[in-house]
Amino acid sequence: MHPDSNLDLSIYVHIPFCARKCLYCDFLSFAAKDDLIKDYFDALSKEICLTADTYKDYRVRSVFFGGGTPSLPDAEYICNILRALFSNFNISKDAEISIEVNPGTASFDKLEHYKASGINRISIGAQSFDDDELKRLGRIHDSAAFYRTYEDAVRAGFENINIDIMSALPGQSLDSYLSTVQKAVELKPSHISAYSLIVEEGTPFFDMDLDLPNEDDDRAMYHETKRILAKNGYHRYEISNYALGDGEKNECYHNKVYWERGNYLGLGLGSSSMINDVRFSNITDIMEYINRLSKSDTVICEREELDEKSCMEEFMFLGLRLVKGVDTELFYKQFGRTVRDVYGDVIDKCKGLGLLENNGNYLRLTDKGLDVSNTVMADFIF
Ligand code: SF4
Repeated sequence: MHPDSNLDLSIYVHIPFCARKCLYCDFLSFAAKDDLIKDYFDALSKEICLTADTYKDYRVRSVFFGGGTPSLPDAEYICNILRALFSNFNISKDAEISIEVNPGTASFDKLEHYKASGINRISIGAQSFDDDELKRLGRIHDSAAFYRTYEDAVRAGFENINIDIMSALPGQSLDSYLSTVQKAVELKPSHISAYSLIVEEGTPFFDMDLDLPNEDDDRAMYHETKRILAKNGYHRYEISNYALGDGEKNECYHNKVYWERGNYLGLGLGSSSMINDVRFSNITDIMEYINRLSKSDTVICEREELDEKSCMEEFMFLGLRLVKGVDTELFYKQFGRTVRDVYGDVIDKCKGLGLLENNGNYLRLTDKGLDVSNTVMADFIF
């Protein structure tokens, strides 16, 4: 599958509930009582029914339940939403249907239920295999809980499993991070996402005096991730994402849609959408979300038609996140100008520094460029 048709659609469903807030988290998520959870799912079903007609000509290639912690509410809520999606949208038979699950919230029964309802990919938030590090992050689980969830997911029949891990954590040594990477690969999941902690303003971490790894250790964590994963058969296809084997099979289709500027529709609180260069997002106040939908009102609060300049910028800085790079022929097809016409000076400068290279039709970051990707991508913004 390739997210290149303008009638292909991916759907993101936001589940904003968590058992409690982690100390580094700036996602739209919170703890909630059962009544609110029920009202939210009723509203979400309503949003699906109200929205679907607009997209009747689109074919849905992926669905992603993200959060928050989608595995926190009863599985039946998620399965009902999936049933509503199947009956209201044209979901292709081979669609990738993923759910994020957090250890400590996903029992074997829930996982089995997900599998039976058509979910075929599980993303498990391990973050670390060190219990002290997990405690310092404010996570609710320990490594034993992660292993139980992983084994339960395998037992429930999931073959497509992602493990999320994080580096640059407070109190994390290089050795302890390497042990986390090693333990993740020993399980041979089909996919591993390895992100580095970013301390965001507005989170408790931002106001704390954190013992973060020094720059040398931080760089070593980054380089060792690539080395260990490559040695164990994982190919890197995006700055922070690795898939087992050589082909595209285990790469996450849904996330590639974001990086390749495919169409995605966000459903649920605060979700964002982009359909054929129009970006829009939903309101973030849950009571207002529920109230508006009870009256069949729209929950979209912002809408922006991207101009050509913004589309080109996005095409470049999102596409360069992919190891294969940006498709220069597609750029020409979409904008009627070559990448070189628009970005000739920047390309020459970056190539001169050994940060960019051509590979057939693709323009991609070199290994050196990937190491300083944020700086290179910033150059592609006018
Ligand atoms: S589980 Fe994820 S979404 Fe929930 S609070 Fe923790 S980091 Fe945030």
